[in-house]
Amino acid sequence: MTPIPAANAGRRIWLHVGTLLDGTCTQPAHDVDVVYDAREILFVGLNGQTPPRDLLSAGQSAPDASLPDATLLPGLIEAHAHFFLEGGELNADKRAAYLQQSPDRLLELARTRLEPLVRFGIAGVRDAGDKDGVGLALSRLYKSAARPLMPYVDSPGAALHHRGRYGTFMADALENFPSPRACVEARVQAGADRIKLIPTGIINFKQGAVTSEPQMTTEEVAALVEAAKSFGRQTFAHASGDTGIDRAIDGEVDSIEHGFFLRDDQLAKLRDRKTAWVPTFAPVQRQIDHAQIMGWDATIIGNLRRILDRHGESLVKAHQQGVLIVAGSDAGSYAVAHGTGFLYELELMEKAGLPAIAIVNAATGTSAGRFAYQEKLGRIATGYRSRFIVTHRSPLETISNLGRKRTVVFDGEVFEIDETFDASGL
Ligand SMILES: [Zn+2]
Repeated sequence: MTPIPAANAGRRIWLHVGTLLDGTCTQPAHDVDVVYDAREILFVGLNGQTPPRDLLSAGQSAPDASLPDATLLPGLIEAHAHFFLEGGELNADKRAAYLQQSPDRLLELARTRLEPLVRFGIAGVRDAGDKDGVGLALSRLYKSAARPLMPYVDSPGAALHHRGRYGTFMADALENFPSPRACVEARVQAGADRIKLIPTGIINFKQGAVTSEPQMTTEEVAALVEAAKSFGRQTFAHASGDTGIDRAIDGEVDSIEHGFFLRDDQLAKLRDRKTAWVPTFAPVQRQIDHAQIMGWDATIIGNLRRILDRHGESLVKAHQQGVLIVAGSDAGSYAVAHGTGFLYELELMEKAGLPAIAIVNAATGTSAGRFAYQEKLGRIATGYRSRFIVTHRSPLETISNLGRKRTVVFDGEVFEIDETFDASGL
């Protein structure tokens, strides 16, 4: 196969591929020509439509690389990851010790993940919160003149919860502020790109249900959302258990994260309000994969399976009903490594019955279209960043093919990668 040249020193690359998944379409396009430079895509021609001459070098009459068997798709966007956590570590004591390190050290370790993520094919990450300013520092790093090779990162900084309730390890308490607005303002002043709320607790695996009352009322969620909007910020809500999900939806957050135990009638609400859903299968599936290490017995494993089966059924219904589905793995959670955990999440969405093209869209265009990233990501279209993946086996056969031999183009630089990707430290 012809290697794709780097688009450096002002060079424009003309690439021909057999198949295009542009990040939003519901059908692939074929016989596609793309011209791009180190920054952005300059031309996309379908069905053999060739680029205008003024975009090409003098006398150029053929593509720089012609790959009729390859599929081109946008670089992936991981919409739910915690950079301050190392997901791949399986030992509980080591995980606890890891969190005891200083914020500077956590940031240093998080920085080592950036370049591997780019090479893996991740073009952007929506960090989902930490108390130590790790995500915010990476977001600042991305915007700085000293930006290293790294995906786009934005972050809420500390999430918001109620003192004594779930989330202490990644959140600041509403009780520390005189009003919801003051609380949101403090986050914005700290540099938050968006506001993360924790209106509910988490799943009680032993009971197979969310057994705690939601942390926030609808009015509290609405006040925080209203304040965030006044500062031009979106909100995303950790929400599991149908009562808490109701409150998050009615409070008009931009997305429901996790959403375990969603009811069918809530799917219609999500669709009608264009509230996105980030289902995060991976952290729960990993509890089954590593049940022995976790010490889970047959009853708990049964609960977890039942929860995931129902979650998968909801995912398929959500897709059929037109809910905005966005892929995020909750990387950093137990056994969910950054990068590889995201691919695992996509595989779990496929296993649940989502068509591969819908999964690609959830990991690219739908995410970008809904979450207002401050960078043009997630689509193969004129004006979008030159960040994409060229796969040799079609991801439409199985989404797992995204993990096989592929070429990653990132701001015109070219990386060849295969399934031997080294995920240590992620
Ligand atoms: Zn999370």
